[in-house]
Amino acid sequence: MSHAATESAATAVQDDPSLVPVARAVDLHKVYGAGDTSVAALDGVSVDFWPGQFTAIMGPSGSGKSTLMHCLAALDSPTAGAVFVGDADLTRLGDKELTRIRRDRIGFVFQAFNLVPTLTALENITLPMDIAGRTPNQAWLDTVIDTVGLRNRLEHKPSQLSGGQQQRVACARALAGRPDIVFADEPTGNLDSVAGAEVLGFLRRSVSEFGQTVVMVTHDPNAAGYADRVLFLADGRIVDEMAEPTADRVLDKMKHLDARPAAAEHGG
Ligand code: ADP
Ligand code: MG
Repeated sequence: MSHAATESAATAVQDDPSLVPVARAVDLHKVYGAGDTSVAALDGVSVDFWPGQFTAIMGPSGSGKSTLMHCLAALDSPTAGAVFVGDADLTRLGDKELTRIRRDRIGFVFQAFNLVPTLTALENITLPMDIAGRTPNQAWLDTVIDTVGLRNRLEHKPSQLSGGQQQRVACARALAGRPDIVFADEPTGNLDSVAGAEVLGFLRRSVSEFGQTVVMVTHDPNAAGYADRVLFLADGRIVDEMAEPTADRVLDKMKHLDARPAAAEHGG
């Protein structure tokens, strides 16, 4: 693996921590498999995620959205390029250090909730900290629990909660340790529109009120409308970006992006 990109990116990092992205990808490549069957899931992605910003990532199925999030969250390793969380270059760290960064600095929300069925909502929320041997900050925990509206559901098991409530538990779990950044991969994909709006409202508040940094993959223009910016991915590359998105503008952009390859195919 080449470290040329790594070094030039490292020297670009500023002294003032507020001017350092919470996470960044530098010319990220990810190839699955080898030979004829290899797939370039990421094909040169460079992007910065700034403190207190809510970013949505959109793109067709298979465009590399999950792969990008997994590489940024230290759940997968890129084939080439660099990933920084703060000033730490993940591609240069060993397993122990990666585990610590995942645990202490990153929160992740999955489409399928991924709660432990035998634990209560509260136990699920504090599980990562319990495993890490960290004592939750009670005031912060209370804030998170009240913000997601789970105060009177804390003793319930996941099976006793609706899908929306389960995802709010998963969001609370991701935020309870006050991570530097929360990644959410289609967090509303299994929810009806009302429950989805609750989860999105909570993610929005975590950014606007608590300064959380959030990156969310979604297929839904309405969901993207909650974000501060949208990245559009196609074939493993960032092909477009939108600031201050609204659902209507995102929908319009998606139509244009979809139209391009189709026009080329049928154009003559
Ligand atoms: P998205 O989340 O946008 O749907 P993914 O990041 O999951 O896209 O996948 C991007 C590409 O990489 C797809 O072609 C997918 O089939 C391939 N891919 C993803 N994960 C693996 C894997 N573990 N092994 C082989 N190919 C994979
Ligand atoms: Mg995906």
